[in-house]
Amino acid sequence: MSDIKTVITTCTRDCPNACGLVATVRNGRLTGLAGNPAHPLTRGVACVKAARYVKRVYGPERITHPMIRVHGRWVRTGWDEALDLVAERLKKYASESGTESILYYQGYGERTALKLLNKYFFNLFGGVTTLRGSLCGGTGQASQNLDLGERISHDPLDHYHSQAMILWARNPVSTNISLTAIARDIRKRGGTVLLIDPMRSKSAVLADHHIAPRPGGDVFLAMAAAKLVLAAGAEDREFLARHAVGLEAYLEILAGFSVDDLCRRAGVSRGEAELLAETLMAKKPASILLGWGLHRHEYAHYGIRAIDALGAICGNLGVPGGGVSQGFEEYGPYDQTLWGDGLNPPRRTLLLPVIGQEILAAKDPAIRMIYVTAANPLCMAPNTAAVAAAFRKAEFVVYSGHYMDDTSDFAHVFLPATTFLEETDVMASYGHNYVGPVNPAIAPVGECKSEFRMFYELAARFPFAADFRKSEEAWLSELCAPVWEQGGDPDTLRKEAFRLNAPMVPYADKVFPTPSGKFQFMTAFDPSRIPEPDPAYPYRLLTIAPHGYICSERTMADHEPLPVVRLAASEAARRGLADGRPVVVKSLLGEALATLRAEEGLRPDILVADRGGWTKAGHGLNRLTRDMASRVGNGTPYYETAVTVNPVLSDVSMGRRILVVQHSDRAPGGDFVKGLARLGAILTTVQPAKGQGLPPSPEGFDALVVLGGPQHAYDDAASPHFPALLALMRAFDAENRPVAGICLGAQLLARAHGGRPWPMGRLEFGFTPLEATAEGEADPVLGPALPLPRLMEFHEDSFDLPPGAVALVAGQDCPNQCFRVGAASYGFQFHLEVDSVIASNWITLFRQGGIETYAPYREAYDETYFAGLAADLPVLVAESQEFCRRVVRNWLALA
Ligand code: SF4
Repeated sequence: MSDIKTVITTCTRDCPNACGLVATVRNGRLTGLAGNPAHPLTRGVACVKAARYVKRVYGPERITHPMIRVHGRWVRTGWDEALDLVAERLKKYASESGTESILYYQGYGERTALKLLNKYFFNLFGGVTTLRGSLCGGTGQASQNLDLGERISHDPLDHYHSQAMILWARNPVSTNISLTAIARDIRKRGGTVLLIDPMRSKSAVLADHHIAPRPGGDVFLAMAAAKLVLAAGAEDREFLARHAVGLEAYLEILAGFSVDDLCRRAGVSRGEAELLAETLMAKKPASILLGWGLHRHEYAHYGIRAIDALGAICGNLGVPGGGVSQGFEEYGPYDQTLWGDGLNPPRRTLLLPVIGQEILAAKDPAIRMIYVTAANPLCMAPNTAAVAAAFRKAEFVVYSGHYMDDTSDFAHVFLPATTFLEETDVMASYGHNYVGPVNPAIAPVGECKSEFRMFYELAARFPFAADFRKSEEAWLSELCAPVWEQGGDPDTLRKEAFRLNAPMVPYADKVFPTPSGKFQFMTAFDPSRIPEPDPAYPYRLLTIAPHGYICSERTMADHEPLPVVRLAASEAARRGLADGRPVVVKSLLGEALATLRAEEGLRPDILVADRGGWTKAGHGLNRLTRDMASRVGNGTPYYETAVTVNPVLSDVSMGRRILVVQHSDRAPGGDFVKGLARLGAILTTVQPAKGQGLPPSPEGFDALVVLGGPQHAYDDAASPHFPALLALMRAFDAENRPVAGICLGAQLLARAHGGRPWPMGRLEFGFTPLEATAEGEADPVLGPALPLPRLMEFHEDSFDLPPGAVALVAGQDCPNQCFRVGAASYGFQFHLEVDSVIASNWITLFRQGGIETYAPYREAYDETYFAGLAADLPVLVAESQEFCRRVVRNWLALA
């Protein structure tokens, strides 16, 4: 009988929605994650990313054991060994160089109550270097504080009183799903929803109209609309007279521009500015919701303050259904004195938006150790090259996470963290006023520990152990004291969300916590600070929050070969850039390859891409973004990055045309084929087993890849295309065009050149140690790719080497593992192309007897073998992928 239970919890990922969730658990295993209908705001809604998270919890690439790096390679270790090493290094650097030689890099990946205690650990330790500034919303908060005194947003439920909703760079469909129901309700009631965003986001489906100002042009659009409202005499005179200061100076700023001039600068038509003004005049009250894209400019405060001013002029502040709302104080519900910031004199902080430069420049003491939690700075921080140089310079990096992402590649210790589904905690939101329970749905996967437990156990190695080592329940009881003071209680907060004592309608009494007690208009504005387009770099790179992922929360296998960049179809046509083709995106900082998507309805001066793709997967567009701080709020102006786009030229390896012959859906090209695309190759795949014809000659192609499959290389009756394929392989080689054959492809290559494939009568399976021959070490493709990691085997046939072939790699059980033949042909018996999905699919298939012909071999492997393989798989696959990347680069260089 199966044991099924449901657990109430709260999503803790970097998302303003902080949805109430119900986890379904069957026999101790998480099987579903859905919205909790009882949550007062999120009401049973959850995004596509919630369901997908179940896969992430059990993903084959997830690290579930502590690891330390030994001679450059990851080695599994125990928690005691890992934490002993971390403690020893903390003590060493503190005693030799002072505690400020250690940087604690705490990201915003999760902001639960207990995770904030990490700071307390470091404060008990003596206080280390920490971060200041923001990669996200700091600018908006600081800007609104100038106008409102303290940024307080309308409760999302108050938007049900709105007659209009202005989604100003906000994209609820992808990043704030609870607002979608409210937007639909407004329209159902006859109200209006406007989307203002340089790009047409998925939230356009919610809106009556979409206005697309140029990036950073929002300030001019808001000013144009304000002038139109004032010209119509529709301003809220009473509010302006009694509850605002600085109006005269702001009117003077507005007087310096005509509406037409402002529209030109904003990159919108006058009709669009009029539409915004008329909506605000006719549909009262209107809620203006600011998105995070607005923050990503050096002078972002101009735009945000001009939008606040527009809200004030229209009488939308302090009224139900109105407001200019941006975010919420997610740390508000906790007793922040427990972080221990007062225990030491103020310690050094480094500016997050320029973190690479800051670490490199840090002196007296230099940064010697970096401890990273809830962050992936090697992917998410701007100017990746500087961040990489900084992390490389550090002597010791500790990384706590789930997957081997870009940052883990720079770490010396990997501490495997639990997900929120394996933790007890409490979660507040930066998108609403509820604080919710985080309850463990399942036991920790493998040996994973919560960050709290890691620090708890680390603390045992220091004299301050007694101060830190209290249970989760005891700490939450203290941390959430402000919640209890507001009427919450620990038992109820385990079962349901609690609404904090925050106003539904802020500033309802029209009193603002500014020095004047009134709304404060922006009184200085320099339009020359909003840069005009640079003809050499005509597009603004907008790296937006993707629909399907949170930040860099993905796996290697999730990545398409190249990031997709979207350009206006008209602009692509004008530049001769073809849809679906690789292009080079270039900024002042560097270059990146990407796949071009020509899209209707985009502005011609923007290039749009999803953020968060990993650098080591060929994505990582922060290689291009500038590291600088915004003028207000120390935010990160990602959108100040200007780029140009050019077609891939047919020089060197870029633009090489590769024919890929695929024999089975279960044996795709994996990292071999992705690696080719990441080097700018243009791929054509044919599947003869599905009736797709092979080309008669190599004409039109520079190289050939023949993949594996369950077929037998000697069986032409079952695969009648083999003779033609063998001839094609020979023809490519005869013309000095490289050939690569993998598994079945290697056996076919041997046969094509006179070798004999034959059945072994057994199966070689799993990641196997192999050895390069002396010829292999000297080979131009294999030699520079060495050392050989253990590589995946999955075959029951082998082959005799063809005459003249050179053996490059030997195996113990199956000698012929890799060979070179002819002019430029390589056969790989091992599967160097596997990623985690391919490998785990094969392992599952084999383990469950899913391949009938392999079933007789299954009993040679017991469950302990499979358990060990699963535990080691992330590292095995990562090492195999790195080897594959090097082989692909060397092989393509022959083309
Ligand atoms: S990612 Fe956001 S929208 Fe999706 S379940 Fe979590 S909180 Fe809700």
